[in-house]
Amino acid sequence: MAMAPAPVPGHGHGHGGRLTIDLDALRANYRQMAGLAAPAECAAAVKADAYGLGLKPVSRALWQAGCRTFFVAHLSEAKRLRETLGAGPAVYVLNGLLPGQPPDFAALDARPVLCSGEQIAEWAEFCAQGATPKAAVMIDTGFNRLGLSAGELGALAADRSLAGGIDIALVISHLACADEPAHKLNAAQQKRLTAARKIFPDTQFGLSNSGGIHLGKPFAFDMVRTGIALYGGRAQASGGNPMAPVVRLDAAVIQVRDVPGGETIGYGATYRTKTPARVALLSIGYGDGFFRSLSASDDQPGGKVYFGDHEAKIIGRVSMDITAVDVTDVPHGLVTRGAWAQIIGPQQTAAALADDAGTIDYEVFTSLGSRYERIYSGLV
Ligand SMILES: *Cc1c(COP(=O)(O)O)cnc(C)c1O
Repeated sequence: MAMAPAPVPGHGHGHGGRLTIDLDALRANYRQMAGLAAPAECAAAVKADAYGLGLKPVSRALWQAGCRTFFVAHLSEAKRLRETLGAGPAVYVLNGLLPGQPPDFAALDARPVLCSGEQIAEWAEFCAQGATPKAAVMIDTGFNRLGLSAGELGALAADRSLAGGIDIALVISHLACADEPAHKLNAAQQKRLTAARKIFPDTQFGLSNSGGIHLGKPFAFDMVRTGIALYGGRAQASGGNPMAPVVRLDAAVIQVRDVPGGETIGYGATYRTKTPARVALLSIGYGDGFFRSLSASDDQPGGKVYFGDHEAKIIGRVSMDITAVDVTDVPHGLVTRGAWAQIIGPQQTAAALADDAGTIDYEVFTSLGSRYERIYSGLV
């Protein structure tokens, strides 16, 4: 076994795949982004279970690296974050306020990102009863997703009593094209948000996500919100990725078999071997969040995995629990029952896997399933 891919531990925990999350790399990425954003504050987006990497270990590591402001999407995520980090951090809920939620926000000391006149009105009504917990306001500057429209903003500017009694701690907007630095919409959005400073002269402002941080200081305002870069993902559509990789994913070889030429592989018989082939069956499939779009047919190549630095192409359809790869040209000593195939790691970045699957690394991370064994390095 001298040539076995490193690392090859036992399979005693009984999972088909093994997900390793490097919290030291996560902290290094936080410090790198905080350095780029300074003097603006660097907040972290930890919605969707910290992009699939685990809210609890990730938020603890970020807190330890100095992060004091966190963004989630749902109130339930804010609750988990409070349970994890206690009363210390500021916690914003990006998807805002749903009807009837104000008391729940107040009880958790979570801050809704109010993104419509309706939400502002409900929050103001709640605040009029006595408590004035902090909130944020989202302004739409051209994304046309969440946020106050130009009309709603104008109404607020003309009549401040609409937000009367609300303690607005932060005003934000969100960039539509931060991953394309040359896109004209970036500067237009920056300009529109700057104009809104007049309406909220004493409030902190924020615009940039991970991609926006690379657009320069005028985009940082007082606070940036970084997500994908922390997790080692690609924030820019082109060019290199300066972040340290955080995620490693391996899948176990269940069986290796020799298949004659002219045979089909798997469901639908969509792929036929041209010559005799050596095939490894991996313990990973769409039930793990491994994309079915990585399937390969006779007409359409699919994704790949690695044994050491040897590539093995996916053949046939990715099924729920199993994926077949062609290991004919991989040294036999590397592909034995119980060996690990690298899915994400030094040979294949999450971005490369995303490209093959026709998606983005955000979706690769948030799809990481609950079936994998999860190993956190750098836990403190
Ligand atoms: C998710 C999110 C972020 C973080 O974006 P990244 O591209 O992952 O850095 C920032 N702001 C808003 C409003 C978001 O929804």
